[in-house]
Amino acid sequence: MYRKLFDSLRQLLFPPTCRCCGRKLLETESFLCGDCMVELPLTMQCDHPHNNFVTKKFEDLDIDKGCCMFVYDKEHEYSNIVKDVKFGRDFRLGKYFGHTFGDMIDSSTEFEDIDFVIPVPLHWRRHYLRGYNQSEIIAKEIAISLDKELITKGITRIKSTHPQSRLKNTHERAENMKNAFRVDTPELFHEKHILIVDDVTTTGETIKSMIEALNSITPAPKISIATLAATH
Ligand SMILES: [Zn+2]
Repeated sequence: MYRKLFDSLRQLLFPPTCRCCGRKLLETESFLCGDCMVELPLTMQCDHPHNNFVTKKFEDLDIDKGCCMFVYDKEHEYSNIVKDVKFGRDFRLGKYFGHTFGDMIDSSTEFEDIDFVIPVPLHWRRHYLRGYNQSEIIAKEIAISLDKELITKGITRIKSTHPQSRLKNTHERAENMKNAFRVDTPELFHEKHILIVDDVTTTGETIKSMIEALNSITPAPKISIATLAATH
C-alpha cells in the first residue's frame, strides 16, 4: 500500500518522460514514448542468429549464435537506454529492456539448446564502485524469459581495464582486454552451451577476451552471445 502511494506521489511530482525525446509519457507508455518505441532501431535478428551483425565481430572465434536487440550509436538518443542502465542506476529500465529482449530471444527456436546464461563480469573494483553489474540485470531477465539458469560465477575478470570507450583504436582496445578473464571452475562449462550477455558491444574486445579464456578449457564450451545493443 505504501509503495503504491509512494509511486503515485513520485509520478505526480516527477512525471516520467521519454528517455529519448524527453516528452512526458502517457500512462500506457513505459520508458519510451510511442513514437520513439516505433522508431527503436531493432535488428530483428533473433530468428537469424548466424547473422553477420553480431557474429561478424567474432568470426575468428567460432561462436555458435549471436543476437542483438537494437543498433547502438553513441551520438543517437537511443544510446540513453544503455547509458541510463550502465551509469544511472536505472534498474527498472534495465529489467524492462532485459525482459523485452529475453522474450524476443525466447520467441526464436534457435536458442532452445542453451544450458545457462552468464553476464560479462565486471572487475571487483568497478563492481564495488558502481554497486552493480548492468549486464547481470539484463542477463537475469533473459534467463527468466528462456527459463534457464543464470550463472554469475566460474569466470572472473582479473584485470582492472581502462573503459574501452576511452581508447582510440582497435589495437589499444585489444591490448587493454588481453588476458582480462580467468576461468575458476572449468568443470562448470564442460559440454555446455552458454549464452554470454552484454549491455553494449562495440569492437567486441571484451567478449573476445572472455571467449578466449573459455576456449582454453578442454573440452571448450559452445558459446553464443546476446547483447542488448551493438554498433554496426
Ligand atoms: Zn520519445
